[in-house]
Amino acid sequence: MSLQGGSGDRGEVASPTTGNAVSAGGNGVMSGESIRPVTVLSSQRLRLNPNKEHKPDNYEDLQLDFSPSIFSSLEKYLPPNLLGVPREDKVKFMREILLKYLPQGERNRAQKHREYRQKIISNYQPLHRELYTINPSTFFVPDFLQAITDNSEESFKSIVTEPSPGVFTFNMLQPRFCELLLSEVENFEKWVNEAKFRIMRPNTMNKYGAVLDDFGLETMLDKLMEGFIRPISKVYFPEVGGSTLDSHHGFVVEYGKDRDVELGFHVDDSEVTLNVCLGKQFSGGELYFRGTRCDKHVNTATHKEESFDYVHEPGKAVLHRGRHRHGARATTSGHRINLLLWCRSSVFREMKKYQKDFSSWCGECFREKTERQRSSIAATKLELLGRGEATT
Ligand SMILES: [Zn+2]
Repeated sequence: MSLQGGSGDRGEVASPTTGNAVSAGGNGVMSGESIRPVTVLSSQRLRLNPNKEHKPDNYEDLQLDFSPSIFSSLEKYLPPNLLGVPREDKVKFMREILLKYLPQGERNRAQKHREYRQKIISNYQPLHRELYTINPSTFFVPDFLQAITDNSEESFKSIVTEPSPGVFTFNMLQPRFCELLLSEVENFEKWVNEAKFRIMRPNTMNKYGAVLDDFGLETMLDKLMEGFIRPISKVYFPEVGGSTLDSHHGFVVEYGKDRDVELGFHVDDSEVTLNVCLGKQFSGGELYFRGTRCDKHVNTATHKEESFDYVHEPGKAVLHRGRHRHGARATTSGHRINLLLWCRSSVFREMKKYQKDFSSWCGECFREKTERQRSSIAATKLELLGRGEATT
């Protein structure tokens, strides 16, 4: 039995960590997140016989989606070099396996998450109700709205710039909308603190921030994806299911003093990621990109032309493939809050399972293919030359 850490069909793997949020079903129900260092986990297998001498860690105090005792039992089967790693890393490795082989567990987890969300929604009083239903004319800047209404490649070209291959930017949100959303998030956090409610963070890479889908914004964000991001993705990301985006994970992340400072290098569990800065005042926090990679090539070196730094501006959106490796530099002063929408395509994920050579979007696959073609042409030339010589 081969239980490898990095070969599942869920989004994963980056160098050195992965932002991996798992969606249960096409209704956008989020059911859990995990992040793990690839260096530890890739190509690791469980041992066939348990290590009976090993005393497993206790997992009772962690908020986990499987019973803590399952983790303690499974731990005895870990590859020897994983036994000594931090408990969090063991959890990540074991969760990955459990998710793959315990579909019932996954179903229970989704159910638990629905209950969690229900509990929030029935207790939390929204501050700005107008945010919960999409209203294009107050949400979006006029140029963006016009381009979407025209819905043509031409119209998108008029608002979108591509400062680096595969990274698209455009002005999107009105300052007033950003303000309202920031204030709603603050209000939600105030409620969380007052009610002493334990919330799930957007992913395990961010200790701060909130999942917008969990407190009532799921429908609005779904409409935002379908009506405003999918048309653009259809044009710019057709090769990764840009036209069939059908579920999302929507959240805000917060950087600065008393918040997360920076974000390590990773890939998202999304086909297309929308990242919009909401404010406030800040310096630093640049988003750095290091080329698009498939699972197989996620740890390969960056080529010079793939390296790109983006400076956030409030209201301005960045759109990129989830598999475009990236991270955030330290926010050195002030506070920076960004809206993230991880857009997914179930069609693309299914097709990826069956179709070989499906990663024309991976920089490294593309280079390999070009190299194969080059050497095949060279070989043909040589052969022709050889024939020529033989006949003269
Ligand atoms: Zn590749």
